[in-house]
Amino acid sequence: MSDTLSAPPPALELVDATRVFTRRGGLFKSAGKAVRAVDGVSLTIRAGETLGLVGESGSGKSTLGRLALRLVEPTSGRLLVDGRDVTGVSKAEMQAMRRDIQMVFQDPYGSLDPRVTIGQSIAEPLKVHGLWDSDGPQKVAGVMSLVGLDPSHADRYPHQFSGGQRQRIGIARALTLDPKILVLDEPVSALDVSIQAQIINLLQRIQRERGLSYLFIAHDLAVVRHVSHRIAVMYLGKVVEMAERDNLYRRPLHPYTVSLLAAVPIADVRMRNRRRTSVTMGEIGSATNVPPGCRFHPRCYRARLVAAAGGVPTERSGDALLPRACLIDQPALKACGGTDQVACHFPETPETRSEVATAVLQDIGYPPIRPITL
Ligand code: SF4
Repeated sequence: MSDTLSAPPPALELVDATRVFTRRGGLFKSAGKAVRAVDGVSLTIRAGETLGLVGESGSGKSTLGRLALRLVEPTSGRLLVDGRDVTGVSKAEMQAMRRDIQMVFQDPYGSLDPRVTIGQSIAEPLKVHGLWDSDGPQKVAGVMSLVGLDPSHADRYPHQFSGGQRQRIGIARALTLDPKILVLDEPVSALDVSIQAQIINLLQRIQRERGLSYLFIAHDLAVVRHVSHRIAVMYLGKVVEMAERDNLYRRPLHPYTVSLLAAVPIADVRMRNRRRTSVTMGEIGSATNVPPGCRFHPRCYRARLVAAAGGVPTERSGDALLPRACLIDQPALKACGGTDQVACHFPETPETRSEVATAVLQDIGYPPIRPITL
């Protein structure tokens, strides 16, 4: 993937996309409560671009990925593919549109029928879309070669392949229809680190060769750093920061982004412990009970530092003194230089960066990004 792009056209756009689920399960307190899994998210993925989408489990990123294919219907908002509004199109039209946008799942084994040969699995999208003809076997062999699988293994079954090879099968299946966009939902998180590198290199090569756009969903910032042009950070259904990849790692603005960076594994135990105590503040909140004001405020180290420094109206929340703005006013995503955006009343900046964030960035060291080697 090249590092610079000269504003290619949008391949995929979500405009103010919202998805509300109503929780079932009569025995649970949260039964019947509305869960805003995705709450007013707007984002654009340009042709040939990889947008990394990160956040903890429960942040809504997988639901957002499914919204992009309309595997989950939006409660409100719009979806545009290649500039065409496909929000309200019929199922048949949507089925045709899915030739252009395909999904790769975290667990390829779970998405492959163990009783069906991998050749049949890879051929299935062609058959579903009525495109299977005499060239079909050749197309299957072509995508198998493209992803580094031996076409002569087409008559084998999923259990005869390793985890990495099964993910290659999942990618081949997604590529059979020659799509323009891939939604990759945690495509390497179930794999060993060395295999992760191979799959990431494979995805990068395919993107270069075919000009594909990727929405790359992951739960930490370490993996997306290697693959993304831009990165969106999600917290409890909202995008809280969106930035060019290098800007996000050099100058994270949102305290949640700093907290995620602090969770990137490092070998030095002392540093790791320092980060844990200074930045990480408990588990992600519940989507059924979103805090008022900024939804990150119960966990936010920066709000506590700003309140302690004085100069802004403050209020007590539990045992913490916080800026009143953080408690009552949900910050909107605002431009903060170039195309970068942040949703925070008191974002980190190089001038005001707290000692906490500085320590995290020093720990990470931000070395130049090098291609992953096999
Ligand atoms: Fe923290 Fe306040 Fe910014 Fe929310 S708005 S992230 S609580 S400083």
